[in-house]
Amino acid sequence: MKGFEFVSAKDARHAVALMAEYGPKAKILAGGTDLLVDLKSVPEAPPAVIDITRAADMKEIKVTDRGLVIGALATHGEIMSSPEIRDRYPALVDAAHSIGAIQTRSLGTLGGNLVTAVPSLDSGPALVALEARVTIAGAGGSREMPLIEFFVGPRRTALKAGELLVDVVIPKKNLGKPAGFQKFGLRKGQALALVNSAASFWLDPAKKVFVDPCIALGAVAPTVIRAPKAEAYLAGKKVTPEAMAEAGRIAAGEAKPISDFRASADYRRDLIAVLTKRSLEGALAVAERNQKESRK
Ligand SMILES: Cc1cc2nc3c(=O)[nH]c(=O)nc-3n(C[C@H](O)[C@H](O)[C@H](O)COP(=O)(O)OP(=O)(O)OC[C@H]3O[C@@H](n4cnc5c(N)ncnc54)[C@H](O)[C@@H]3O)c2cc1C
Repeated sequence: MKGFEFVSAKDARHAVALMAEYGPKAKILAGGTDLLVDLKSVPEAPPAVIDITRAADMKEIKVTDRGLVIGALATHGEIMSSPEIRDRYPALVDAAHSIGAIQTRSLGTLGGNLVTAVPSLDSGPALVALEARVTIAGAGGSREMPLIEFFVGPRRTALKAGELLVDVVIPKKNLGKPAGFQKFGLRKGQALALVNSAASFWLDPAKKVFVDPCIALGAVAPTVIRAPKAEAYLAGKKVTPEAMAEAGRIAAGEAKPISDFRASADYRRDLIAVLTKRSLEGALAVAERNQKESRK
């Protein structure tokens, strides 16, 4: 690895100031599980690596009047053990648990995962299915956008030079929205997703119909995508195994998976159908558990 200056930011604002000082080639270091691998092979070292791991204002997981705010520095392990997340969003816990092994989950952060923006990233679909938004800070101030728009291509995000991903927010309207997550890789652990899928919906307690269904898919297009035709098919329909299976088939037709050395496009389409159905079943299990608990 080539030499570089190493500086530490005490909070998000300081990190933005350091980025402005060292210029667009400076690199942010969070958990380092991706960055350190990359730094070993780059032809030219960055002028500085800006360590943000001490920025306490980017670590918190809390419910505020914006919704559930997850700091970009929250690690996958912290997401798995957060009571705020565990009780409301088992899908986010399942997505975090599917990332690498315990060492990767202990160091790797949510922000780092989203900024790498690889098509198979595991935190993306579960958050997109909950219509998460991201907060971005730069020298000119802060801005917010839907997470789905943050991904602009494979390994490309909407971050401009000098900008920092500060947090991810699940909006208030989706606090406690039942969701499910599924991933299929070539091994049970330490494998990238061939397909990952997440779904959320509110279950109307009286009519037992899908309300506001939302389906997100990963590793089947250059970025995480929604499946709007499958969502429209489900909206207002009775919750049945047949409807969930049909939504899976529709979602498979909406994606544009590729064939590569890991799987063919046809195999991936079959996976989309199966995993979408299972994500919907996962969301249903959460919805039924919530309804049972609210009757106690
Ligand atoms: C063995 C192994 C297994 C893995 N398995 C999986 C897996 O199954 N699923 C999966 O999705 N990923 C996996 N990963 C990838 C990786 O661990 C995750 O993407 C991780 O969450 C990255 O976070 P980090 O904090 O380590 O990022 P870093 O390596 O610190 O940073 C990654 C990139 O994001 C930038 N960055 C980080 N934080 C910010 C921020 N807040 N604002 C702006 N830029 C930022 C950095 O400059 C860098 O370019 C694996 C990695 C390894 C090494």
